[in-house]
Amino acid sequence: MLLPQSADGGITLRSSALEPFGSAVLVLPAVPLSTVASRPHLQENGTLMTQALPGASTPSAAARDDGQQLGRRLLGQLSQASRDYGLIEPGDHVLVAISGGKDSYTLLDLLRQLQARVPFQFSFVAVNIDQGHPGYPLHVLRGYLEQEQYPFEIVQEDTYSVVKAKVPEGKTYCSLCSRLRRGILYTTARRLGCNKIALGHHRDDMTETLLMNLLYAGQIKAMPPRLVSDDGAHIVIRPLCYSAEEDIARYAALRAFPILPCDLCGSQDNLKRQRVKQLISELHAENPHVRGNLFAALGNVRPSHLFPARARAEATLPDRRLRVVSES
Ligand code: SF4
Repeated sequence: MLLPQSADGGITLRSSALEPFGSAVLVLPAVPLSTVASRPHLQENGTLMTQALPGASTPSAAARDDGQQLGRRLLGQLSQASRDYGLIEPGDHVLVAISGGKDSYTLLDLLRQLQARVPFQFSFVAVNIDQGHPGYPLHVLRGYLEQEQYPFEIVQEDTYSVVKAKVPEGKTYCSLCSRLRRGILYTTARRLGCNKIALGHHRDDMTETLLMNLLYAGQIKAMPPRLVSDDGAHIVIRPLCYSAEEDIARYAALRAFPILPCDLCGSQDNLKRQRVKQLISELHAENPHVRGNLFAALGNVRPSHLFPARARAEATLPDRRLRVVSES
């Protein structure tokens, strides 16, 4: 789908990749990384620096080229995912959940680039939930969003206290915490008139979730790129679903996003996820196709070779029919 570069070093997407955008050709200019040195930067003391960083004002040409290529790849993947699953469509008003981590910053950044390039209108608003974690450096995120002139809203909900009170000692908070956060996002989307909620999950999140469900929950399921909520009121989208975590981490570093610490909830290191991450890394080191195969498996499902309850019932049906016939 990625075709020859345009004059400014960008890429050109042709009609086959652009059905949802209603245009024959879409040019994605190169992502400017020359501003890296003046982007916000989180200092160790939690202060957001906005001036040029000493010694960082002129990134090397190699680093710049590398960054631009990476930016084009990520934007191309996001466009492709949008085309494949109808993630961003004309008239959408998207709530972009932003946590202050590398994934959500990257998502926000790429969506703005996409917005400037597609020949239709869509809008978005960044929403952060301040969950009441002690020491949460909200001013850093707020400073960044203001400086970058993103439309945004900060929702204050003390889920931290709720989770601390409800989860027994020694158990991880993440499951309840995520459910509470999801509920707040749905409520906020309704209030802000957003028809979609964009989350920053990437390709590796999806394959890890698949394995976690297989190994620890006895289920074959992962995270879909597009999911309609049970009540049909919301569509959750994951525009980074084709992008590798490694690329996102590198892009976030090149763009110098002011990443917030993620252990404020009391270092709730999700041990199962870490274990699965490690397992995939080890297997991938032995066979470089492992990550790709896991991801491909998400779209290569053969229900006829599984054991779903309905298939079991259908498989036994002829016997029952025979029994009924012979009894009559
Ligand atoms: S790591 Fe902390 S903030 Fe994140 S989901 Fe788990 S409990 Fe919530």
